[in-house]
Amino acid sequence: MSEATKSVFARKALTTIGWESDVLIRVDATGRIVSVTPESGLESGAYAVDVLLPAQANLHSHTFQRAMAGLSESRSPAGRDSFWTWREIMYRFLDILDPEDIEAIAAFAFVEMLESGYSSVAEFHYVHHQPGGGTYAKFGELSERIAAAAGTAGIGLTILPVAYMQGGVDGRALAGGQLRFGNDLDHYLKLAEEAKKAARSVSPDAGFGVAPHSIRAVNERDLQALEQQFPGVPFHIHIAEQIPELEEVQAAYGQRSMSWLLDHMPVSERWCLIHSTHMNEGETARVAASGAVVGLCPITEANLGDGIFNGVHYLNAGGRFGTGSDSNIRISPSEELRQLEYSQRLRDVSRVTLARDGKSCGRTLYDAALQGGAQALGRSSGSLEPGNWADMIALDTENATLLGLSGDRLLDGWIFAGDRHAISDVWSAGRHVVQEGRHRDRAAILKTYKARLASILERV
Ligand code: ZN
Repeated sequence: MSEATKSVFARKALTTIGWESDVLIRVDATGRIVSVTPESGLESGAYAVDVLLPAQANLHSHTFQRAMAGLSESRSPAGRDSFWTWREIMYRFLDILDPEDIEAIAAFAFVEMLESGYSSVAEFHYVHHQPGGGTYAKFGELSERIAAAAGTAGIGLTILPVAYMQGGVDGRALAGGQLRFGNDLDHYLKLAEEAKKAARSVSPDAGFGVAPHSIRAVNERDLQALEQQFPGVPFHIHIAEQIPELEEVQAAYGQRSMSWLLDHMPVSERWCLIHSTHMNEGETARVAASGAVVGLCPITEANLGDGIFNGVHYLNAGGRFGTGSDSNIRISPSEELRQLEYSQRLRDVSRVTLARDGKSCGRTLYDAALQGGAQALGRSSGSLEPGNWADMIALDTENATLLGLSGDRLLDGWIFAGDRHAISDVWSAGRHVVQEGRHRDRAAILKTYKARLASILERV
């Protein structure tokens, strides 16, 4: 996966100053953009595409959950299905996965991410140990598996080893499926070192960050310690996803989840607040002012019945966001943005809710998610400009959903009417991994995934 495209010629490209024609992009051998030159001639040897865009970063994923798609959609006999009953299914599922399974699922999920238009991913990686909690001979075995899968697929990885220390806000011990997640602070520091090393061994664009799972799973003292032990790196946490979670935090700490976090931790630009579904107006304004990125996962949030994020108020307050595929029940950056906008329309009985007057909704959402995603991953990406990694996708305007569209309407057409079939090419840090809509190693990676999945389903 080291072959770098030397130059790409785009008939139209979305650059930092807007749509430009006949744009020549040069990429160096490390995968960074060297120059972006509009009104260029077609250079011999340049790879020509129709429409070129900066690619999105997937800011939140648990790859192993990809293999659960379709396994949690039957109503239970008790008829009380919720996020929490889904979580029980998820715990039982992860308890049968071995390292080979985890690597095979991750590699295939990464292929699907690339083919749907993500060039990079922040893997919120929380399964660290054997079923029952015993450690592997190599302490960082499963972080190495995730890194290896990213290397196989050629995606830009930011690995986020997850700290999970207690079973609830009351400090109860971990139980059942959670035993595979647990580390005390000392063990977490060791794990973080190994995860960082594993990511760096994959490619120079790989990154590292820290992820306390939630304020349910990490107490205030450990949260403070993590914040101080790892200055300057991306810092991700699940927060305010579910009402019962808010109730649990309210009972123990006397505050709503987000208010407690904002009052007790130095939330800033390096923070990524995953979900943030249930915020009141004051919390919405404070998060927007903090410079943190809210990590929205609209497809998963809909699937799990989390609730509707108040995007209208948050964007009006200048809040930053990116999107994540989270449970990977469906992987598509364009569909995440569509789901986000549609949730607002359904709630408000309105249309084109997240764009300012006179602006394209697709362009507004795409631009905002590019910036938020890059910030959340701590990755030099999100725009076509010298110095950034060449994280790029090309759209095919011969795709039926894009016919006759140009400029921002192309983004509106792709996001609201299209799917991954409109994507012809994808590069991650210059690695040209998708051509003619297909990942170049799809067949081999799918074959391994298929074999592992068959064996997993026999064990479920
Ligand atoms: Zn998550």
